[in-house]
Amino acid sequence: MKLLGNATVITLNSKDPVIKDGAVLIEDDQIIDYGITKQLKQRYQKTEFVDLKQKIMMPGMINTHMHFYSTFARGMDLKSDLPPKNFEEILEKLWWRLDQTLNSEDIYYSALYALVESIRSGTTTIFDHHASFGQIDNSLDIIAEAAVKSKLRVNLGFEVSDRHGNEKSKKSLLENERFIDRTRSSNTGFITPSIGLHAAFTIKDSTMKKAVKLAEQTNTPFHFHAAEGAIDQIDSKKRGYKSLVDRLNKMGVLKKDSLAVHGVHLSQTEYKLLAENNLYLIHNPQSNMGNAVGAINLKDALKSGLNIGLGTDGYTTDMFESLKVADLLQKHNNKDPRLGGEDIRRLIFETNREIAERFFNKKLGIIKKGVPADIIVLDYKPPTPITADNYFYHILFGFNGSLVDTTIVNGKFLMENREVKVLNYEKTVQRCKKQADEFWKRF
Ligand SMILES: [Zn+2]
Repeated sequence: MKLLGNATVITLNSKDPVIKDGAVLIEDDQIIDYGITKQLKQRYQKTEFVDLKQKIMMPGMINTHMHFYSTFARGMDLKSDLPPKNFEEILEKLWWRLDQTLNSEDIYYSALYALVESIRSGTTTIFDHHASFGQIDNSLDIIAEAAVKSKLRVNLGFEVSDRHGNEKSKKSLLENERFIDRTRSSNTGFITPSIGLHAAFTIKDSTMKKAVKLAEQTNTPFHFHAAEGAIDQIDSKKRGYKSLVDRLNKMGVLKKDSLAVHGVHLSQTEYKLLAENNLYLIHNPQSNMGNAVGAINLKDALKSGLNIGLGTDGYTTDMFESLKVADLLQKHNNKDPRLGGEDIRRLIFETNREIAERFFNKKLGIIKKGVPADIIVLDYKPPTPITADNYFYHILFGFNGSLVDTTIVNGKFLMENREVKVLNYEKTVQRCKKQADEFWKRF
């Protein structure tokens, strides 16, 4: 047992969202008690006490859309005279070339780096969407091996696509099937499956039908890109459907709890259809801005009744960055400073938590009695008081991932006082750099 105290505790628990001079008691993998430090110290006198010296304690962050395999793209020379001029060219010149070049070691070290950076920026649960069409078989196992080493909670799926031909398409679906079998038979609670689908414009109806069959047989939700670019809509109409979501609906892809990612180019009717089928939409503001694909109007999309979560789409591992940009994008794009704010709080602290609960079958992203101890500590000294009413605005304007100095998952300290404890951070970074150098030569 450990009592962590002398902290400002942001519980994200509606009953008592902020506790000044707060403490949390951890026993094995769970939060057993929490409250005011003085009272808990009296109640648990013989328990080891960790003095957090007025730092912030809060639940670990949840990232509902990530691509570990994008790690080696950072700073990479595209070896092209002309930079990609639109979304389709970014896919063809960068991502589809990159995903065909990745070998087993690239996959492993890309994932390991992103995982360790997630620990360092306070993210404890991640939904990864994987593609490696040069090495499909067992690629999810390779990532799972890195995930187990990191001790984070990770959901994995391989993005099924016909973009590299029939044989690879079949293999990509099989990789999901094999991984579902494997994770279900060795259920650890840390690694869970979803069925990955790339954007619908690269998937034939016949392939989609096979994926739907697998989803039904195994009762596994999808994790798919939807209307990131306008091309998904143009393509669905060409195939004879009213819209993208009309196509997905008729194919049977709108399976409960599935994650539809981006949704930039969707109509209000389509948002409603997703909501009625109990899907989640995942917003990735930095990625949408970087790819210049446009921006979702969150207010309108939320009005449809759709639950929207927040991810990073491989842009960063730091969810504090993502929520900051999400807030600014709504204000800036709609020329209305009243937007963002509370809507963003809902995305990150309500919907992401709900999604994590659905996929991991446990309460995550909250400090309360009897839940897994997934906790982070941030070395943030506020210039103004933190209250139940304003804590989100301290997070929005004052927090960032590099302030995280301790990361705990399931009661285990993965990082303490900025020192990563689950693996050797310096060695991991050096090994990744070496691997990236080799990868760049092959690209
Ligand atoms: Zn993505």
